[in-house]
Amino acid sequence: MHRRYLKKVLEWLLGNKDKPFEYTHHAVLLVGTVLFFYAAVVNYHLGLANTFTVIALLALSFLIFIVWYLSRWRNQFKLMSVIFIALIILVAIPVNWMGNGGSNGPTFFVALGLLIYISGSFKNIGLYRRLGQLFCLLVPIPLIMLENAHPELVFHYATDSLKQIDLTITFIIIGVFLIIMMESLSTRFKLEREKAKQLSEKLKALSEQDSLTGLYNRRKLDEQYTSWKQQGRLFSLALLDIDHFKNLNDQWGHNYGDKVLQSFAELLMDVAKQNNGLAIRFGGEEFILFLPLSLDETYQAITKTAQSLSEKAFQHGSVTFSAGIAENRTKRSQDELLKCADNLMYQAKNNGRNCIFK
Ligand code: GH3
Ligand code: MG
Ligand code: MG
Repeated sequence: MHRRYLKKVLEWLLGNKDKPFEYTHHAVLLVGTVLFFYAAVVNYHLGLANTFTVIALLALSFLIFIVWYLSRWRNQFKLMSVIFIALIILVAIPVNWMGNGGSNGPTFFVALGLLIYISGSFKNIGLYRRLGQLFCLLVPIPLIMLENAHPELVFHYATDSLKQIDLTITFIIIGVFLIIMMESLSTRFKLEREKAKQLSEKLKALSEQDSLTGLYNRRKLDEQYTSWKQQGRLFSLALLDIDHFKNLNDQWGHNYGDKVLQSFAELLMDVAKQNNGLAIRFGGEEFILFLPLSLDETYQAITKTAQSLSEKAFQHGSVTFSAGIAENRTKRSQDELLKCADNLMYQAKNNGRNCIFK
């Protein structure tokens, strides 16, 4: 109960968890808002920085909150990502430099943390990502030059221990931030891997499927043959060819021919399902039933199929097929099995069609 409530609040604040980067980035923005506010208060109370810095930190806290609002609630994720990076590089880092000891302070940590964040996470902002990286790398140079030209602009720590405190606090904050970032990245990679796996499974299924009838194509036959052969199973292959199909096409059109093929395929699919076998469109109007049955059992199944086909009400008269069935024997290869079924099918054709040879 408690957890569900917490989850709801987090989702409201951070957005959809299925977008792990947006989710984490919104967390970063909110934590950033709080941290800048906190930094302003701490710096003010401990005398770690001058008034200008304190005001700048308050302003940053407010601006980052606005960035969160527009990103989370106004669908401006990309633009706000760029603005966030610009704010940190162009405002937060210089302010931190001037206000917290310059090249002796913790600003190098901040720039390095931001560089890692931009490099690892902002994959979808294109050129801005490169610009962000470049600016992160180069930002200390003008700051050092400014520090040398105008040392009075840089706030110096009153004591060494204040400097140590500031360095340590900043180091820990950046470290925690990087840990959170790594976690979110690994979640995203996991999601992407899962998606890729699903896609490749879908592609595999499609590559084994005939688009007109939804039956398997001959690629699947190879796979199933190998698997049954390895298991040492008994199986039979029936080759079925629709009789005078060309006439149907010529007389009633290609679309009608397609409908007959689909209808026949449905029938074969049912037979395959009932017998834990495969129905395959071998090409054109030739089909294969690949069943884990003996020759005689397959013969019975195909006889039933012929009966069912004859009972189907086609718009332009009944449809028949001729078939040849071959059973696997220890030495028979897939090609031999096919050839045997093919020969028998042609014998059936020569026998006047609408019959099954085994
Ligand atoms: P037989 O009884 O000797 O098998 O004669 P047939 O006319 O059935 O055989 P043939 O091989 O001469 O003709 C097969 C026809 O199937 C020719 C081709 O245009 C047609 N065909 C092949 N694929 C498709 C398809 O996807 N859709 C349609 N509508 N026709 C197709
Ligand atoms: Mg035919
Ligand atoms: Mg044919």
